[in-house]
Amino acid sequence: DPRLKAISDAIRVIPHFPKTGIMFQDITTLLLDPVAFKHVVDIFVDRYKHMNISLVAGVEARGFIFGSPIALAIGAKFIPLRKPGKLPGKVISEEYELEYGRDRLEMSVEAVKSDERALVIDDLVATGGTLSASISLLERAGAEVVECACVVGLPKFKGQCKLKGKPLYVLFLFW
Ligand code: IMP
Repeated sequence: DPRLKAISDAIRVIPHFPKTGIMFQDITTLLLDPVAFKHVVDIFVDRYKHMNISLVAGVEARGFIFGSPIALAIGAKFIPLRKPGKLPGKVISEEYELEYGRDRLEMSVEAVKSDERALVIDDLVATGGTLSASISLLERAGAEVVECACVVGLPKFKGQCKLKGKPLYVLFLFW
């Protein structure tokens, strides 16, 4: 698919950001290129429009950017999975491991009905800790997680192994 090259060309790689040794995949340059940004949304929409997805969950913050247009295009609700303390009302929360320490994601319980078919969207998967916490939140609220999808995958961190057997779809891998 020639669109994949346009997408990967539009993502800037910044060495040693935010810390020494990290090759940061910067998707903000992709957002400056409306053709490449639309390719991302179109590819995901083509994949998910006939899979009876009722709910798209986007992970703060870059999962919001890709998740919202996908949800609108496939006719699904959008649910933000947020950092602690941001959501009003009744929330459930899941902790996950970071390279140094732990973090937490929260979700509004009332947003999910039982028997929903969910898609989780983020910009990038590394260790899979973030997606794993997202899957747990949705399953605790009664949803079935159909798939997780990201623009970029970093295979050296073996994120797929943490996803409780759920399928992972990425547009391209960065080795
Ligand atoms: P994981 O939980 O180890 O899979 O890390 C994935 C999370 O870290 C996602 O929410 C990403 O947005 C973020 N992340 C890690 N590395 C990068 C990067 O190089 N670029 C953008 N986001 C990153």
